[in-house]
Order: sequence, then structure tokens, then C-alpha cells
Amino acid sequence: MAIQTTSPVTGEVLKNFDELTPEQLEEKLARAAAAAESYRLTTVEERAGWLSRAADLLEEEAETVSRMITTEMGKTLRAARDEVAKCVHGLRFYAAQGPGFLRDLPGDAGRVGATKTFVTYQPIGVVLAVMPWNLPMWQAMRFAAPALLAGNVGVLKHASNVPQCALYMERLFREAGFPDGVFQTLLISARRVEQVLRDERVKAATLTGSEPAGQSVATIAGEEIKKVVLELGGSDPFIVMPSTDLERAADAAVRARTLNNGQSCINGKRFYVHQDIAEAFLGLFASKMEALVVGDPMDERTDVGPLATESGREDVEAYVDDAVGKGATVLVGGKRPERPGWFYPPTVLTGVTPGMKMYHEEVFGPVAQVFVVSSLEEALREANGHPYGLGSNLWSEDPVEREMFIRDVQSGMAFINGNTTSYPEIPFGGVKRSGYGRELSDLGMREFMNAKTVWIGEDV
Ligand code: NAP
Repeated sequence: MAIQTTSPVTGEVLKNFDELTPEQLEEKLARAAAAAESYRLTTVEERAGWLSRAADLLEEEAETVSRMITTEMGKTLRAARDEVAKCVHGLRFYAAQGPGFLRDLPGDAGRVGATKTFVTYQPIGVVLAVMPWNLPMWQAMRFAAPALLAGNVGVLKHASNVPQCALYMERLFREAGFPDGVFQTLLISARRVEQVLRDERVKAATLTGSEPAGQSVATIAGEEIKKVVLELGGSDPFIVMPSTDLERAADAAVRARTLNNGQSCINGKRFYVHQDIAEAFLGLFASKMEALVVGDPMDERTDVGPLATESGREDVEAYVDDAVGKGATVLVGGKRPERPGWFYPPTVLTGVTPGMKMYHEEVFGPVAQVFVVSSLEEALREANGHPYGLGSNLWSEDPVEREMFIRDVQSGMAFINGNTTSYPEIPFGGVKRSGYGRELSDLGMREFMNAKTVWIGEDV
């Protein structure tokens, strides 16, 4: 894939970028390894100070960065501003809370024959981050903020269609005061990830992206015995029960499916609605989806911008055509508009069955599948039948139903009466084919640390 900025609104290539030559890549890896040696000896207070400075700089440049995001991948400017604000918050969160996450954990010395025993958390060195374009700043930031605070060094291989966001990240951390080589962007194609991951100077990797990319990185990391965190696809269930407020649930469902122009791993994608309220909910949901304004993402009135890439739109169309060809019903949308750019309308389908591809896979665009169920048990059975297990949503006022949902839903995150989202304060991640490991909170920070056990005996 060429490394370039292409407008999703017009399809026009706006800027080309050269890939790193083999010599340039070697130089960057050498610099990262050298930085890791000295950076691990900096104090956590110094590192927190640089993170705070990065937050301030990003806040000052928020409007420019938001426009850059929208230009490169087509999310609405409103959504891009939210993304940048979240990055600022994430940086400040780790600057303030990170030092506490790194405190030594005392053990019971008497029980293990020591005078003192504790666990101390130490950085592991250079970590490779392979990141997707859909939240081009936040995905990379939620790796970078905890990693740098922990004393690790980052090398970022970002998606090929967001090179300006990728290069901005490197500049931000440099200008915030982080030492040379502590955070670098590698403008390389996906096929060169293997070389970087096999390099002995690189100690671990995190990948957010598709299942095939995750499989590839996990296979290589397995051969090299390197730690890897995988944040892969999702097809989150969104269950609506009769006790909920339907208007509120329908508004949330629209946001859940169209967040990020429908291209988020944690979009609600499969909607399970109880039969007693199915007709009423579907009426509200369909009319609200149809009322969304699709258009120029820079326009403040736009709700849904274009898909990020031409191939992304082709994939979405292929899923819908396959389902419709096999008998699914289109209630709203379902047809690309006659205009330049990679637009696809908010779409609602019913009658999706196991013979259709979208039933088992992930549709990365604003296409909702609605299923009518007779009970929460049935909704959970259907929801859990999917290979993914990232987020999940229940709308219910019933405490018994909530308990059952928390206990039985097969997902890394269970949100009740609110849409799945990421916060630096709480862990984020999935189970099953959505990946393994956690990002954010203290758990995310410790993924790439050596929890070193220290045992000290008596002096002679
Ligand atoms: P993608 O094609 O897998 O790309 C993600 C990143 O991986 C890009 O940097 C890409 O580089 C690189 N890559 C692609 N193939 C690779 C390979 N074989 N080996 C190593 N690196 C490879 O995914 P995407 O289309 O950008 O993103 C959409 C997917 O990400 C969806 O499935 C979505 O659910 C998932 N996602 C998951 C989360 C989560 O937290 N669980 C969050 C966001 C997105 P190039 O751009 O150069 O190809």
C-alpha cells in the first residue's frame, strides 16, 4: 500500500510520502535501542513532566490536528475534535496516575524466608506499535502514553493512509522534551513489520487492526518469544430489553452504529431486540438512521462522513450485496450515493441469517443488522455465537437481566445503559478472536513491563 494522504471525500491523492530506505530504518532502530539504554534511567517524575508538556502542546494545536485527522481518514471534524481531546486527557491521566501504577508491590517477607521481598516494575525496552487509521491519534496515543511513562521506547508503524498523523506523533513527543529516539515513526509498508519484529533490539509488539494482521504478528512474535498485545476486530452485540426507555436506546443505537462513520471496532454492529418492543424500537431506529446527514466531514452539520478508503467501501458493499442476494431486507440505505468520494449511507438490515457473510464477520461501515429475540437468554446465545468478543451492550432496567448479562456475555467489556467506549481510567480489550491483552488503566501499562520479583535474605 502506498504511503499517502488521499482525500476520502474526493478520492484525490493529496500528498505522497517516501518509505524509509533500509539504511534509514536501521538508523532509526539503532537510535531507539540506544535511547532505551539511557531512557530507562530517567525518573518517573521527569517522564510525567514530558507527558504533561505533550498534553499542553496537543491542546494548543488541537484544531490543526483535528483537521489533519478529518483530511486523512474522513471522520467528522466534530469526532476528530473529540478524539484529540481524549488524547489530551489520556496524556494527563498517565502523567498524574502513572507514577502510582509503578510503585513497588510489597510481599510477605516472613513467609518466604526473606528480610524483604517485593515486585518492582521495570521497562522492557523498545516496543513496536502497529496501528490502524480509524482513530489515528487515539489508537497510537493509548499505546504511547503508558509506554513512555513506564520508561519504554516506542516505534510506531502506523497505517499507510495516515502518514501525517503518524509523523505528527513523533514531532509532538520530541517537542514535548522526550529524549532523542524515545518515540519514532517508521514510514514502512506492512510487509516490513516482520523484519522489525524479528530484530533483537525490539522486545515486544502491540497491534490494533484486523484479524489477518494480528495472526501474522502473533505468529512472528511467537517464533521470537516476544510479548504481544492484540486488539483486533469486533462485532459488538447491542441488546435492547422491554424495561428500557426506547427513545434513549434508539438514540444510543444510532450513535453506536455510526460512531466514526461506522468504522470502529466497538461500534454496536448486531442489534438484538426483544419481540415485545421490536416493532417500536425498529421504527425509531430506522427513522433516526435515515435522518442522519451524510456529507462533507468538515461541515459541522454532518453526522456521517465517507468511509476512509475505496477498498473499505467495496468491502461494505460486498457484505450488503451478499446478504441482500441471499434474502436480507434493507429497511434503510443499502446503496452507494452518486457522488465522488467513498460515501456509504447509514443502513439497516433485517433477516440476516447464518448463510450470509456479515452474520459471522465484521462490517466496517455504518450497516446495522437487527434481530428479534424472545428472551435475554436467546440474545446472549446469538451474541456469543460470534467469533469476536470485544465490547457488548445491554439496555435494561432489570437487575436480574443485568446480572445475567455480566455473567454470561462473552466479551472483554460489558456496558449497561451506555455505549461501549474507551477511557484511560478503565481497561480496554477483548476475548476470543478479538485478541488478547489489555490497553489503558494500570493493566495496559503493565503489559510491557518486567514484573521483577526481588527477594533479599539476611546479611551475614
Ligand atoms: P489492518 O489492515 O489490519 O491495518 C492495521 C495496521 O496493521 C496497519 O498499520 C497496517 O499497515 C498493518 N498491517 C496490515 N497487514 C499487516 C500484516 N500482515 N502484518 C503486519 N502489519 C500489518 O486494519 P485496518 O483496516 O487498518 O483497521 C480495521 C480493523 O482494525 C478492524 O478489524 C477493526 O475492528 C480493528 N480495530 C480494532 C481495535 C481494537 O481495539 N480492538 C481498534 C481499532 C480497530 P498498512 O496500512 O500499511 O496496511
